[in-house]
Amino acid sequence: MTANAPLHTVNPAPSTGGVRSYLPFARPTIDEETIAGVAEVLRSGWITSGPNVLKFEQALSEYHGGRPTRVAASATAALELALHVAGVGPGAEVITSAMSFFAAPNMILKVGAKPVFVDCDLVTRNIDFDQVEAAITPRTKAIMPTHFAGLPVDIERLYAIAKNYGLRVIEDAALAIGSRWRGRRIGTFGDLVVFSFHPNKNMTTIEGGALVMGTEAEVKLFEKLRFHGIVRLPDASRDVDVASGKFNLPDVNARIGLGQLARLEEFNAARRTLAARYFANLRTDPQCLLPAHAHAGEEEGHSWNMFCVLLPLERLDITRKQFIDALHARGIGIGISYEALHLTTLCRGLGHREGGFPNAERIGRQTVTLPLFPAMTAGDVDRVCEAVADVLRNAKR
Ligand SMILES: *Cc1c(COP(=O)(O)O)cnc(C)c1O
Repeated sequence: MTANAPLHTVNPAPSTGGVRSYLPFARPTIDEETIAGVAEVLRSGWITSGPNVLKFEQALSEYHGGRPTRVAASATAALELALHVAGVGPGAEVITSAMSFFAAPNMILKVGAKPVFVDCDLVTRNIDFDQVEAAITPRTKAIMPTHFAGLPVDIERLYAIAKNYGLRVIEDAALAIGSRWRGRRIGTFGDLVVFSFHPNKNMTTIEGGALVMGTEAEVKLFEKLRFHGIVRLPDASRDVDVASGKFNLPDVNARIGLGQLARLEEFNAARRTLAARYFANLRTDPQCLLPAHAHAGEEEGHSWNMFCVLLPLERLDITRKQFIDALHARGIGIGISYEALHLTTLCRGLGHREGGFPNAERIGRQTVTLPLFPAMTAGDVDRVCEAVADVLRNAKR
């Protein structure tokens, strides 16, 4: 199992005694050069935010075509700070997909605004822009779409809507570092763009995240809010004019990020190759609903953070939990990404119910995440395909 599997994901410990090693659904690749670099930082005497953060931010800004990029303790922290930078606060509405990670509605609520959910497409799992237009009100301040599993949303449509209605955009690109839209890397254009460096993402800093911004004024505000709301005065003393929290990334983590960013294109290429093998070899009866390929002719546009399939539960006599347990018994880890956001206890408390967003609800019930990470082999993919086909064949109604 990944030692870093977060508590909220289903990636249980390996059973002992198996001949083949346990295949988790996600695992980071950390090379020896990076480990040595971390040891150097630990010995240097400066382990929290410092020179490595500055270097990492410079490298990320270059990676995003010179657009200023700053790091934070997590993508969740970056989303919260991005909402502040976008001027989203009490009374504002933010349109977001019912199919994403809990951080999106949580942070919208945390800054005092209202998450306005819309449904997603069943195949791409990305936000449905027809419903976005219908959900806009005079109080709408921003749209927060997620590039699901690394597949960019329709960027032209997104920014056309934002322009027409004067809305800010906060792209949740937690799963999409290195993804491209019509050849242009996500983050090199647009409004505010958030990335995650959690161990299950395409590159990691253990925990960590980043925000790409448009102006130096936004960068200044982000840096202030990231660290207690502190501003430095000319006389070397400090002042605070807003009660902010603490969201900075330590240098140890930034050093890992530098080692990861250097290999990101290689990692993403490996992910694309493995995803292509899933498409070629995953044949089940009854059939699963497979994820969307990248947009036509743009295979390189998808960074393939996850390979998520919908189980044909109506044609099986097992539950999703039993499917996950059966794969676990064969030494294969399976994740769930994600639950329908409007059906959490929190959002039910805001009045949401079943039937609100049928695609998100179906995905929430049926989705499973198959193993996909750069160190996997073609043989690993084949092993998963065979195990999935076998379990579904035995469970066919
Ligand atoms: C992982 C993830 C986040 C949160 O990232 P953290 O760095 O763990 O805070 C937010 N949104 C999406 C879509 C994610 O997958």
